[in-house]
Amino acid sequence: MAEDDGQDFPEIRQGVRALCADYPGAYWRALDRERAYPKAFVAALTGAGYLAALIPEDYGGSGLPLSAAAAILEEIHASGGNGGACHAQMYIMGTILRHGSAAQKNQWLPEIAAGRLRLQAFGVSEPSSGTDTLSLTTTARRDGDHYIVKGQKVWTSRAEHSDLMLLLARTTAKEEVKRKGDGLSVLVVDLREATQGESPPVVVQPIRTMINHATTEVFIDNLRVPAENLIGEEGRGFRYVLDGMNAERILIAAECLGDARWFIETARTYACERKVFGRPIGQNQGVQFPIARAYAQSQAATLMVRQAAALFEAGKPCGAEANMAKLLASEASWAAAEACLQTHGGYGFAEEYDVERKYREARLYQVAPISTNLILAYIAEHVLGLPRSY
Ligand SMILES: Cc1cc2nc3c(=O)[nH]c(=O)nc-3n(C[C@H](O)[C@H](O)[C@H](O)COP(=O)(O)OP(=O)(O)OC[C@H]3O[C@@H](n4cnc5c(N)ncnc54)[C@H](O)[C@@H]3O)c2cc1C
Repeated sequence: MAEDDGQDFPEIRQGVRALCADYPGAYWRALDRERAYPKAFVAALTGAGYLAALIPEDYGGSGLPLSAAAAILEEIHASGGNGGACHAQMYIMGTILRHGSAAQKNQWLPEIAAGRLRLQAFGVSEPSSGTDTLSLTTTARRDGDHYIVKGQKVWTSRAEHSDLMLLLARTTAKEEVKRKGDGLSVLVVDLREATQGESPPVVVQPIRTMINHATTEVFIDNLRVPAENLIGEEGRGFRYVLDGMNAERILIAAECLGDARWFIETARTYACERKVFGRPIGQNQGVQFPIARAYAQSQAATLMVRQAAALFEAGKPCGAEANMAKLLASEASWAAAEACLQTHGGYGFAEEYDVERKYREARLYQVAPISTNLILAYIAEHVLGLPRSY
């Protein structure tokens, strides 16, 4: 099958593939060893305008649909690279676009579209609340024309490489709200100012992880955020963030599809070339079948990703489909990762083949941005009408 057969956005895919060809496995391996940020790759992607895909043309972006952004991220991952260093620059701005005021959109979106401003840090997760977002304890208290923010975030990825951070904080105590989703608000925090000085109100500490993901802990102490940086209405932030999470899940699912393609092609090539007992290992059905099964899984997941993206683009509810797309795609990429590592035998563990790096990277998506169990709980409760489990 030719690379573009049956695929949407063939020209965009071709352009991304050409760009990624300048950043081969050796580039990603060197960064992985040092846990260093892929600055040159992100600059190239920004320069080519790919990270502004979803920003409307009126604000200087390309005004492309979500499925085009999905195609961009899929191709990055299918090329052996990783979009995790910058994918959020594409979609975090969606909260401002959908819920911000005209003044906020005019202030930030053109700068983000031009790549002069990075909004790619999203502070939701906290050490004590975990998946239970409504129990987060970071507070934002109104004080005149400012909010005073106190608390701690964890797993805030790219905070060191972002000018702004979208922060979810509690503005009304949990006990005082009428509906349990109320009381949280979204603020745009300027990290450039907030991290300066001898004892800055925001301290960002990197977390060393199993993959090269530039993730951090963020400590916030008496940070003053101008009230004009509140997005939408105070107390309705959880709903705004949920909107954006569907887009995030669909785009992450597309990255998983790209990973699956990389693993399957890498396994297929190796299985044809590697000869043991005088014949290619790919001649053995024990080697073929896991690769073939992963291929079938990834094709099925592709259909769900496309369906979720089509619903999102039509402005229709897509919570179930976005969740199922992420679930199925992350499992397909993991099946492909397993097949690829096993096909390579001992060489799968050698750094220079990139299999072990991609294997570690692919594992993340069953945990973040939402873990598999929580997706299953969503399907059970909201689609199947089973009793709520938590
Ligand atoms: C590399 C990385 C980058 C990340 N980037 C960001 C980021 O940029 N911004 C951000 O806000 N967050 C980020 N996260 C956080 C991520 O979204 C969370 O790790 C994820 O949502 C799971 O939350 P947790 O780690 O607190 O797990 P927990 O909530 O502690 O859950 C632990 C395990 O228990 C299971 N579990 C919990 N409750 C239930 C239940 N009721 N039923 C069944 N199973 C349950 C979960 O499925 C999980 O397997 C990142 C995480 C990682 C690892």
